[in-house]
Amino acid sequence: MSFEFSRRSFLKTSGLLSAGIVASSLLPDKFLLWAEEQGMIKARYTTTFCEICFWKCGAIAKVVDGRVMKLEGNPVHPGARGKLCARGNGGTGLLYDPNRLKTPLISTGARGEGKYRKATWDEALGVVADKLTAIKQKYGPEAVAIFTHGTPTDHFLPLLSAYGSPNVGMPSFAQCRGPRDVGLELTFGEGIGSPERLDMVNSKVVVLFGSHLGENMHNSQVQDFAEAVGRGAKFIVIDPRFSTAAGKAHTWLPIKPATDMALMLAWINILLSEGLYDKEYVAAYANGLEELTAAVKEYTPEWASKETDIPVYQIVETARLLGKNAPAVCIHPGRHTTWYGDDVQRTRCMGILMALLGSWGREGGTFMATKASFPKGAAKPFPEPLKAPLNLGSFPFAGAEGVTQAIRTATISATPYPIKGWFVSGTNLLKAIPNQKETLEAIKNLDLLVAVDVMPFDTVMMADVILPECSYLERYDALAVGKGKSLTVSLRQPVIEPLYESKPGWWIAKELAKRLGLGEYYPWNSYEDKIKGQCASWGVDYEELKKVGTITIPNTATPFITPTNPPEFKTASGKIELYSKELKEKGFDPVPRYTKHQQPAAGEFRLIYGRSAVHTFSRTTNNPELHELYPENEVWLNTRKARDMGFQNGDYVTLKNQDGAVSNRIKVKVTERIREDCVYMVHGFGTTSKELKNAFRKGADDQGLITRYAVDPICGGTGMRVNFVRLEKEKNNA
Ligand code: SF4
Repeated sequence: MSFEFSRRSFLKTSGLLSAGIVASSLLPDKFLLWAEEQGMIKARYTTTFCEICFWKCGAIAKVVDGRVMKLEGNPVHPGARGKLCARGNGGTGLLYDPNRLKTPLISTGARGEGKYRKATWDEALGVVADKLTAIKQKYGPEAVAIFTHGTPTDHFLPLLSAYGSPNVGMPSFAQCRGPRDVGLELTFGEGIGSPERLDMVNSKVVVLFGSHLGENMHNSQVQDFAEAVGRGAKFIVIDPRFSTAAGKAHTWLPIKPATDMALMLAWINILLSEGLYDKEYVAAYANGLEELTAAVKEYTPEWASKETDIPVYQIVETARLLGKNAPAVCIHPGRHTTWYGDDVQRTRCMGILMALLGSWGREGGTFMATKASFPKGAAKPFPEPLKAPLNLGSFPFAGAEGVTQAIRTATISATPYPIKGWFVSGTNLLKAIPNQKETLEAIKNLDLLVAVDVMPFDTVMMADVILPECSYLERYDALAVGKGKSLTVSLRQPVIEPLYESKPGWWIAKELAKRLGLGEYYPWNSYEDKIKGQCASWGVDYEELKKVGTITIPNTATPFITPTNPPEFKTASGKIELYSKELKEKGFDPVPRYTKHQQPAAGEFRLIYGRSAVHTFSRTTNNPELHELYPENEVWLNTRKARDMGFQNGDYVTLKNQDGAVSNRIKVKVTERIREDCVYMVHGFGTTSKELKNAFRKGADDQGLITRYAVDPICGGTGMRVNFVRLEKEKNNA
């Protein structure tokens, strides 16, 4: 099996991306194909889907003599389209990372001291089950909380629900896309989904607020980006930093950080006052035009210019460009949207712009999810929790994924009831939740911290018991159901047997359930049996799925609004809410209102952070293949500031924030590509886990400098771009 990738498309993509999709794999693959053709090797190909990030791209593994030699994108998977990003190519780096967790471990020292002894699975699972039982008896089941991310959630969340706890915290909500989802739900009655349902390939204009596509490497979205750039779509990039995407833009607006809402409110005002909005669409589908018009009158381009540092003419010109190209305007609502604590309202502004431009559910804007779904199977119902969950905190629009820091606060204060156990799977809390001191304080109060993961990340190395999960290439996981344009189903299956003594998450969950007397919630012998049963009830040919990896159910796409395919808005009014009664009833602004945010004092810089094309959070910094491509982060500093402060490109500095937190040393990248009032670094570096031999103390940890956070009162999202740093020369540099 081989895949065509034309020279033209390769050049287009690799020119766009800092580290290209596929580019890193061309040579070894050619060699392997040649060796295969010569009969020198015999390869076996197995389909699966990637877990280096959450995009779940379909992949095909090439296995020679029991070793995975190569991963390729699955051509029939809509997220991959025959390609993997550089990180996905680096999946073999995770599989063969010598620092992987190899056996169950039980702590023999103080928590966090890093002293462990090897244990058998039976012993380790027994210790966890005994401690969970003891906590349940003494405090009740709600005293155990789960923190989780990615596919392990499918195995361990049901375990905690069966155990009787309602307390779940996923950083993907309160530290990432929660405000975006809530803002769009309040406006349209639904979120934008993941992968985001953006019809960028058909857009005439694309607007990116800080979304640094090509540096954040969401495979199919970046392919769409490349396609749109190649087709001549105009990009308006609003970013204090001249990102890779800004380099391809028609207009780059180097906005003063924390003022994005001022620009959006002025745009809304211009669209309304110049009659540039889609009157028919708004009349048919939206509520609250009058209230919106009155509320945004004060947000003139002149006012916005003073707030944002963007000239008046550019504010007006860009607004007109949007209006003239409607509805084929794609406003990317972002993904990591926890910035300043008013993030739901910022997303509401984006939603209102989409509504005025008539681009929600229209070609070139966003598309609608398929209405088709697979039948829900019958499952044993979980017990009703005995106490109210703490995971929603006091946030009226927090969702089922919970608010991580609300659990942390309750763990510290033991009010209204104690939290005594944390079950952590697939997430590195110390690098995900702001204010590490509070996280460590909470951890001190626990009777049990158990971690399930593939690698010895910072938080894993705080655990009392460590359960080594095998990597995604060695296990079955839940079927991935995609609700994009069409309904799809993808299979993850082991491409090789688990290495060392690691085990799949499903096995760990089932074994724990058995020891907790909850075995009836896992009524199958193997996960493959469970998946086979599901496929049979869904009418999906399991053997075919094993072979091809992804099946698209035909005739399930209804992407755009037409007279025969009208939209459904699941809001309180059944219409798009330009003015939100729901927000008003809960005491919030029904139309977004601008609030000024603190700006840096003299000598300080706002700390902003983002992604590298070759890393996912803190989870890949040790991966030997990806580490080689980008071993440590840098701090971007404006050239003039660097000159004034006497810093040269490549100097090592430390960063000290407003609360006195000091970073590990980090290299300065002196560049014109950033404003003078902020510095920028890639998230996820500077691990303190000594077991991560490549990554240990390489680069600086942005999260260590995020001691302050601004909580969004609507959903509990933690705005994390509210910290300011000073740069200090590292002593060894002097
Ligand atoms: Fe894997 Fe890259 Fe796809 Fe993420 S975007 S799932 S890392 S190939």
